[in-house]
Amino acid sequence: MCGIVGYIGSREAYPIIIKGLKRLEYRGYDSAGIALYDDGTIKLSKTKGKVEDLESKVQNEISTHGTLGIGHTRWATHGIPNDTNSHPHYSNSGDLVIIHNGIIENYESLKNELEKRGYSFKSDTDTEVLINLIEEIKKNSKVKLGKAVQIALNQVVGAYAIAVFDKNKPNEIVVARLGSPLAIGIGEDEYFIASDATPFIEYTNNAIYLEDEEMAVVRRHKKIKIRKIKDDSLVSPYIQELQLNLEQIEKGGFDHFMLKEIYEQPHAIRDTYRGRLLSDQAIIKMAGVEDNMKTFLNANRIIIVACGTSWHAGLVAEYIFENLVRIPVEVEYASEFRYRNPVINNNDVVIAISQSGETADTLAAIKLAKASGAFVFGVCNVVGSSIARETDAGAYTHAGPEIGVASTKAFTTQITVLTLIALRLARAKGTLTSSDYRKHLIELEMIPEKVEHTLSSDSLVKSIADIYKSAQNFLYLGRNYNFPVALEGALKLKEISYIHAEGYPAAEMKHGPIALIDENMPIVVIATKKGHYEKVVSNIEEIKARKGKIIGIVTEGDTSVKNLADHVIEVPETLECLVPLLTTIPLQLLSYHIAVMLDKNVDQPRNLAKSVTVE
Ligand code: GLU
Repeated sequence: MCGIVGYIGSREAYPIIIKGLKRLEYRGYDSAGIALYDDGTIKLSKTKGKVEDLESKVQNEISTHGTLGIGHTRWATHGIPNDTNSHPHYSNSGDLVIIHNGIIENYESLKNELEKRGYSFKSDTDTEVLINLIEEIKKNSKVKLGKAVQIALNQVVGAYAIAVFDKNKPNEIVVARLGSPLAIGIGEDEYFIASDATPFIEYTNNAIYLEDEEMAVVRRHKKIKIRKIKDDSLVSPYIQELQLNLEQIEKGGFDHFMLKEIYEQPHAIRDTYRGRLLSDQAIIKMAGVEDNMKTFLNANRIIIVACGTSWHAGLVAEYIFENLVRIPVEVEYASEFRYRNPVINNNDVVIAISQSGETADTLAAIKLAKASGAFVFGVCNVVGSSIARETDAGAYTHAGPEIGVASTKAFTTQITVLTLIALRLARAKGTLTSSDYRKHLIELEMIPEKVEHTLSSDSLVKSIADIYKSAQNFLYLGRNYNFPVALEGALKLKEISYIHAEGYPAAEMKHGPIALIDENMPIVVIATKKGHYEKVVSNIEEIKARKGKIIGIVTEGDTSVKNLADHVIEVPETLECLVPLLTTIPLQLLSYHIAVMLDKNVDQPRNLAKSVTVE
């Protein structure tokens, strides 16, 4: 996930691109770069850091003249954030230049092929492979840039929004999209290109949003032609009139980043398993696991260390690993683990989970585990973060930047990565039959669709939020895989609405919290069909007998809980170990709507910080 901007027209491109990049910085902010065309040359400057850092660098490096240019703010997926890996990237000849948002999954095989033909690569990115593939095709097949891009994209597996130009053809920019957004702003004799409409909203209200698998050659003084990448057929452009204000657009039309990120989950989960889950071949490909398979399979136990929401993802993983891989798992708060002189040795595998990859306590726990001889595997979202560097191996979640302080898509993508690891190990260890294994792969692949479907309960959840927004306390109950979901639901509510909430294993209720129940107490019970359903239904009866208000999260078609509960929210049926990926969605929405109704600062709740870098 990153931000891309381009301009072709008669104005100076530099100020338009820089301002546009600043507006897109929410999409990615580890590096920034720009390439301008002026008088027969490409002037390129790029740097690790923010757009502000780019501005300072540009002053010393290049002149800023030119009426055609492209710019990028990066959120690294392949290669750490540094100057070389920043975009734009040149082709080997120096004639072509590209910016890219997304992931080229088959970049390794394409790179090997290009290396055999004499190409060399400066960066570790997948993007530099793509621009050289385009160059190779252009040279070999003697085609124009647009055609070369099209042929190249037909060889690419993955996701992209790209903008490319050729210094020998300074009157056009070629753009294309698959899986990553790309908008084209249409001015008077000028065009703007961007990941969303924010960079050009003050210049034009007319925009075309490219659809997946579409490309366009944007030419000075010419009408835009849009084509299908696959079969070259022409598509008639649909020009939309924009009616959004700037702030709305930055948040993709959502009122808050948190809500935007909740809605991004289908996409984010797909990005997490992209290139890793190959269900048609019944394969899971994760280099960090593959390279250390023996260590994983010979481990006495897995210790998961994390904090906050990541700790809850770790708890879900405990159930998944023990069930599917039959390996003992302990889940530790990093802050406790690091200070309690834990017994660890070189037969232990430690998995450290952190969205930012900078959580101070988790980093300290990693150092301690490594010093004791354990193999440490990292699961984090931010590429090149401290945890990614400090661990022996790892897997990124590829969820894109999470801006809302209350974690949402980080949680579901962490569970996705951990499920992939568990499934890969289960297959290697033989604890899942091949048909069960396949079933899990197919079902995991369908989760984004089911999350999408679950999101359609938003207005129902909002109406429930309205009824209970003034409650002083909430109780969240669940069993088995849904117990960590109950903890996470309670945490979300506390974090952003400041209402006291407790998450509990449903059966534990009788050992204390039941005393709190009266007719004013809303109790969220996660009672999906799998996961000791009958037992949870009995717990609901016990709550009902004490007049508690029941909000049930149930499987579609449920009748028993429906008859007992005051409200039910349905989620689609799935395999038991994947249920948390669905049941957590209505709980995120519930906390969000309550916080908004209480007029709280949803994206920046009091006293909290996105990345906890102090212990
Ligand atoms: N995969 C590319 C990279 O790592 C683009 C990432 C992005 O979307 O910012 O450089």
